[in-house]
Amino acid sequence: MVTIVGGGIAGTVLAGALARAGQSVTVYEQRPNVRGDAFLFLDGRAHKTLTAMGVPADRLERASYPLHGFRIGSAADRIDETPADGDRLYHRTDLMRVLTEFADTAKTDIRYGTPISDLNPYTGVLYPGGDSAELIIAADGIDSIARIRLEPTRVTEYAGQVVLYATAAPGTRPNTAASVLHVHHQTQDSPATFGHFWNEHVAVWFVRLSRPPIPVGYTGFHPLARWIEPIRTALPAIPYLLDFLLEHTAMAHVSNARTVPLAGALPPRLPVILCGDADHVFTRGTGARDAIEDAAALYQALVAGQDPAEAMARRRAELLAEDD
Ligand SMILES: Cc1cc2nc3c(=O)[nH]c(=O)nc-3n(C[C@H](O)[C@H](O)[C@H](O)COP(=O)(O)OP(=O)(O)OC[C@H]3O[C@@H](n4cnc5c(N)ncnc54)[C@H](O)[C@@H]3O)c2cc1C
Repeated sequence: MVTIVGGGIAGTVLAGALARAGQSVTVYEQRPNVRGDAFLFLDGRAHKTLTAMGVPADRLERASYPLHGFRIGSAADRIDETPADGDRLYHRTDLMRVLTEFADTAKTDIRYGTPISDLNPYTGVLYPGGDSAELIIAADGIDSIARIRLEPTRVTEYAGQVVLYATAAPGTRPNTAASVLHVHHQTQDSPATFGHFWNEHVAVWFVRLSRPPIPVGYTGFHPLARWIEPIRTALPAIPYLLDFLLEHTAMAHVSNARTVPLAGALPPRLPVILCGDADHVFTRGTGARDAIEDAAALYQALVAGQDPAEAMARRRAELLAEDD
């Protein structure tokens, strides 16, 4: 019997794969359903892992948009163009719908609207309720209650940038190549990054601004107006493109980029194993893929009757090696 705290990307796909393999799984998810207005990119590696766990490839394809390539430039006019390798853009809600259908088909017991308020990492007792679980996979995201209880000193750190994510009005078509992720790095005293992607259905963009963090109460969706000048000032080299996309956008999702350091982490040990953002967050922009690969490593260990703590220790070593 496996108990999963958090029915986000990692928790849902792990639950579905384990249930499909005949294991009994219960997921506690605090939100009434898992949706999100932001978007994210998954690469070919993430898709290979999802389909290896049993998520139908055709459902993933129908829920997302393919990338043809990447065009990465800087103010120094150096531009690198590379073809995509199975990368796709998702609205978070669409990805979660596919993963939830996968878990539902396997008859996973996902209890939405059920926050875990606390847990004892040594006995596996969960609150509210006070029931104890033999094995808890804590896939409860960056502010994980399980990590706080297990490793109170391994806290989130501000990564130095405020991030804005936005979807432009339908029909927005900048004069750049379609289906390409265009990224512009501004390398000045206060570095900034601007990225955008568009096709006949959608136009999305993001900005990373180096600056002090915004107050926690201000994170989330907000009118774009107050951010227009800071964005223009930080990214002076692409005025036409910026203005075009900003003019066609009403709201943006604003957040502080944060990390969860792995250095100095206590070794994973039963009965509570951290997974995904609950365990580690890097700045490289592949957090969802990392979470999916954690889920796959735990899935493989559990169906083979192996120790999930050892599987997660190996995963951490891989992640740290990739981050070098
Ligand atoms: C703006 C933004 C853009 C991003 N873009 C990308 C991208 O393009 N590509 C990429 O690979 N990654 C991206 N990421 C990172 C990616 O979203 C995360 O790494 C990924 O969602 C981690 O998955 P997870 O399952 O570990 O955690 P989450 O997806 O955060 O899921 C955690 C779940 O646990 C639930 N939960 C939390 N606490 C409790 C509790 N106490 N009880 C019950 N349930 C609880 C939450 O409600 C949530 O559903 C982005 C992140 C942000 C913020």
